[in-house]
Amino acid sequence: MIIRDVNLETVCGVTSKLPENTLPEFAFAGKSNVGKSSLINALMNRKAYARTSSQPGKTQTINFYNINGALYYVDLPGYGYAKIAVEVKEKWGKMIERYLRNSQMLKMVFLLIDIRHEPSANDKLMYEWIIFNGYHPVIIATKLDKINRSQVQKHVKMVREGLGMEKDGIIIPFSAETKQGRDDIWDLIEGSL
Ligand code: GDP
Repeated sequence: MIIRDVNLETVCGVTSKLPENTLPEFAFAGKSNVGKSSLINALMNRKAYARTSSQPGKTQTINFYNINGALYYVDLPGYGYAKIAVEVKEKWGKMIERYLRNSQMLKMVFLLIDIRHEPSANDKLMYEWIIFNGYHPVIIATKLDKINRSQVQKHVKMVREGLGMEKDGIIIPFSAETKQGRDDIWDLIEGSL
């Protein structure tokens, strides 16, 4: 995919009205630190356009990035961050739920899982939640460069089984360092436009 133009068009807080977009949306979910900003930056061909959760002041928002005036990447708030208060976590859940339930233009939901670790309880909940809302999540197994090449299949299997994935569910190993997997993700996005 050739990225010509990227624009952070809408930032939604807990009480904001969600935008009534008319372009297809592709959403990204995952726990904090999983590599979501790095992935979105890679898919935008930008170094640091999407803010990372380690940057101070990153709030729990839903960010809509207009890509080429043709589609949106939707950055959902990262979950499972131990330091945030319970009430914030509840708000986080409500925000994601509201978005998944109400978006008219959502085409695909990507759920990011760190390839090194077994999916957490929150990862499983998110996975089931996406399915409950009528979508087939595409799993992106992040930080691929952090494991030995000979271990990739074993870890993919661990993620697949840990989530209890559907048989035909897609899982794409990805590295923001090497950009391995990026073309496969772009192909999926372009294929569903
Ligand atoms: P977010 O909280 O999900 O948005 O995660 P970030 O994109 O901010 O990434 C969290 C940390 O993991 C940062 O220090 C990144 O540099 C690092 N990181 C993210 N993706 C990768 C990757 O594919 N490979 C490696 N080695 N590090 C990564």
